[in-house]
Amino acid sequence: MGKTICEEITRFVLESPANRHPESVNPYFDAPLIGFAAIGDPLFLEYKRIIGDYHLTPLELLESASGPLRKVEGTVICWILPISFKTRASNRGQKRWPSREWAYTRNYGELFNNLLREHMVKFLTNIGQRGVAPILTGGWHMVKTSEGLSSSWSERHAAYAAGLGTFSLNDGFITERGVAHRCGSVITDLVLPSSLRPYRGRVGNCLFYDKGQCGACIARCPADAISGDGHDKKKCYLYTYREITGAVGKEYCVDAVGCGLCQTGVPCESAIPVGKR
Ligand code: SF4
Ligand code: SF4
Repeated sequence: MGKTICEEITRFVLESPANRHPESVNPYFDAPLIGFAAIGDPLFLEYKRIIGDYHLTPLELLESASGPLRKVEGTVICWILPISFKTRASNRGQKRWPSREWAYTRNYGELFNNLLREHMVKFLTNIGQRGVAPILTGGWHMVKTSEGLSSSWSERHAAYAAGLGTFSLNDGFITERGVAHRCGSVITDLVLPSSLRPYRGRVGNCLFYDKGQCGACIARCPADAISGDGHDKKKCYLYTYREITGAVGKEYCVDAVGCGLCQTGVPCESAIPVGKR
């Protein structure tokens, strides 16, 4: 059944007309990476300590959406949607604002990601299983913390549990297909074999954390939001949602513009950096 789930996610990404830039055949996303984590994986309880009490476990999300489970069994199905070559290339030369293609991917590409979430919930329901997309439930909410905005379900932390990559200096998530992507997940009572976590530690794919080298994303950030100490969420948020949106949101005709300058033109843009593979 794991193979069938992977095939269905991949088919939807490759075939859906919603995964296309307006007036273009260029897709927002290439074929996905897919991983599975058990809903009872202790890492999800640990996230309450690492992220905050407000971060929900898969069990809490699944039970609040569909009632108590008889056994704590099930799977978090996670995917990474790698941003296509043309879009990444268009953002590489940008110095202050993201390219139009990047902004379309952030805005319309994320709407496509929601369609994929809904599609997989329906797919699971049609085969007689429970399914819930955490980001689309009423229980999902943003949380203000002293470090900046957080949320009650982190797609990247779920993807880490599912062995799809590791975190990075710029607060991104470096996968086999790099750091330039969107990610998503659904939770189900269907039991699937958990994916291996083949990486060394939570930041093993980042050259800066693992080898004290690189730091290319520091120089790419126009908001001075990245340093050797990490990523300043508040600075990043203000730049992305106020300055950039104010500067080019109208011109691009999108609500969510994104930024992603630190995810393009860097060694981890589209792969685990050389020396770390
Ligand atoms: S650009 Fe270099 S330092 Fe920054 S996240 Fe990528 S590998 Fe890490
Ligand atoms: S997304 Fe933009 S503002 Fe935020 S850290 Fe990256 S380059 Fe800086």
